[in-house]
Amino acid sequence: TTETEAELIGKYEVLSMYKPREKFSHKGTFGHSLIIGGSYGKIGSVTLASRGALSSGAGLVTNYIPKCGYTILQSSFPEAMVITDTNDEFITAIDFDIKPNAIGIGVGLGTNTKTISAFEAFLKSNKTPLVIDADGLNIIAKKKTLLKLLPEQTILTPHPKELERLIGKWKDDFDKLKKVKAFSKKYNIIVVIKGANTITVFNEKLYVNSTGNPGLATGGTGDVLTGVITGLLAQGYNPLIAALFGVYLHGKSADIAVEDLGYQSLIASHVIEALGEAYIDLF
Ligand code: AMP
Ligand code: MG
Repeated sequence: TTETEAELIGKYEVLSMYKPREKFSHKGTFGHSLIIGGSYGKIGSVTLASRGALSSGAGLVTNYIPKCGYTILQSSFPEAMVITDTNDEFITAIDFDIKPNAIGIGVGLGTNTKTISAFEAFLKSNKTPLVIDADGLNIIAKKKTLLKLLPEQTILTPHPKELERLIGKWKDDFDKLKKVKAFSKKYNIIVVIKGANTITVFNEKLYVNSTGNPGLATGGTGDVLTGVITGLLAQGYNPLIAALFGVYLHGKSADIAVEDLGYQSLIASHVIEALGEAYIDLF
């Protein structure tokens, strides 16, 4: 067996990553995030990711969604901009004329064959820093050749089932981490293994998060994390820092939220609402 370097990510480590907000800054300073996803009945996932991105400090957020989500998103989150696909219920062609600083793709996306083709075409032309989650990961798991198209240090955020689809079954935790390290190295990507103790893997190293609680075991919290990490990437944090900082802040927000709400009643929106306090808690 080989020794693996592991680092615990707590407040001190995160504070050293933090970039202060300058007085003479404007929304352009903090970057433009693009969230691509959504399908009929799953527009909420995009709204949550988009709110997560803006509340992490990104200057602007745009969402690329199927047409059916237009009114839903514009009314539920007026701070965000929306670009719609030509199709009503799912994405069929990822086509936009903005220049985002970071893109989060996959939440609520679905796996329609036309969506899969659009996703593939997008990966072939995209050079923008990328976070991939949910159905974005499921599509890649079905078509592993897509892994070669990812920009270096793309961030993947699988939960255990999505991870299994990507790397296959593992025997035990040690075997899992070994497999993820090899996977991360092969494609030069950052893998955030979500769960009770979220572990981020990059460059042969493991980073263990210190925040979060079982209140997070509820629908939509993963979508919020995708948004937060995309928002940090858009602000110019390098991909590994964006992943570690994002996972820490997301967990800390949940820790703050459960103080008032308890584990049972916490929902994903509460995590977004507590992001401000999670930032303030750093100082
Ligand atoms: P997803 O399954 O994509 O919705 O993501 C769930 C999110 O909640 C991830 O950020 C997980 O790390 C987090 N989470 C889920 N269950 C727990 C738990 N028992 N303790 C701490 N965090 C959790
Ligand atoms: Mg998820």
